[in-house]
Amino acid sequence: TIESDYEYIQSNDILKITKKRDVFSHKGTFGHVEMIGGSHGKIGAMILATKASLRVGAGLSTAFTPNCGMQIMQTSVPEAMWTGNRANEYYLEGNYISSNKTVAIGPGLGIHPKTQTFLHLVLKATKTPMVIDADAINILARNKEWLNILPENSILTPHPKEFERLIGSFSNDAEKLKKLKEFTATYKCIVVLKGAHTAVANVNGQIYFNCTGNPGMATAGSGDVLTGMIAGLLAQQYSPIHAAILGVYLHGLAGDLTVKEIGMPSLIASDLVNYIGKATLHM
Ligand code: AMP
Ligand code: MG
Repeated sequence: TIESDYEYIQSNDILKITKKRDVFSHKGTFGHVEMIGGSHGKIGAMILATKASLRVGAGLSTAFTPNCGMQIMQTSVPEAMWTGNRANEYYLEGNYISSNKTVAIGPGLGIHPKTQTFLHLVLKATKTPMVIDADAINILARNKEWLNILPENSILTPHPKEFERLIGSFSNDAEKLKKLKEFTATYKCIVVLKGAHTAVANVNGQIYFNCTGNPGMATAGSGDVLTGMIAGLLAQQYSPIHAAILGVYLHGLAGDLTVKEIGMPSLIASDLVNYIGKATLHM
């Protein structure tokens, strides 16, 4: 039925899916994120995403960027490791070897033709669910046949413009949700359609609406923080749908906790990273 396809996620639903830490756990217990992205002038997106992955609890995080990102990442996020293939100073190109980490790709990536080929290599090499955001979505929108090789249950996190590039335009909300369901069924993926009341669409057609967040979050880098959070939760062995729902909820909550202390227009994406810790007190 119509009603059962839609669910509004509230704090008690979140408490049901969150996991507690075992006393005898170690950083290996909490997974290893490989955050792939960045290009000349857009390394900041990688800083935000990588930090967010650690703040939400990933045991380890490695940033994979073009050469120009190495010193920037190592200086801005000392907790994270850096890697790359050293093929180019300014944008990602060249070879990619899977390292069996939890992969997220997109923040600051750019859409250079050689970067597009690089993304194709990453998709071919990755066998477990990954997070796909920003320019990685824009590249997929230009190469739709690559959607067929997405690892099953991967999570795409488009904002409305990226969603339209990927799925096409729609004339009303009903048509939008219909297209969303067709897309997740066809490509066996999860789509996080971002905005006010972000919709998380599961492979099976179920759609979950988020209740946290505010317009202060309409600011540069906000989505990059979400990408890091979802990747960090996936690394901690949350199922892909739980990682998406929980990531979206905590991200919005971090925004809500921020604007209790500073004005809405002043919120910047770094604030979201800094408030993830307070948001996790509610899980
Ligand atoms: P991006 O456009 O990729 O930076 O992503 C923007 C992020 O901010 C998404 O997680 C959105 O859900 C969130 N966001 C943007 N505008 C709003 C809004 N008006 N209310 C709640 N969340 C928002
Ligand atoms: Mg974005």
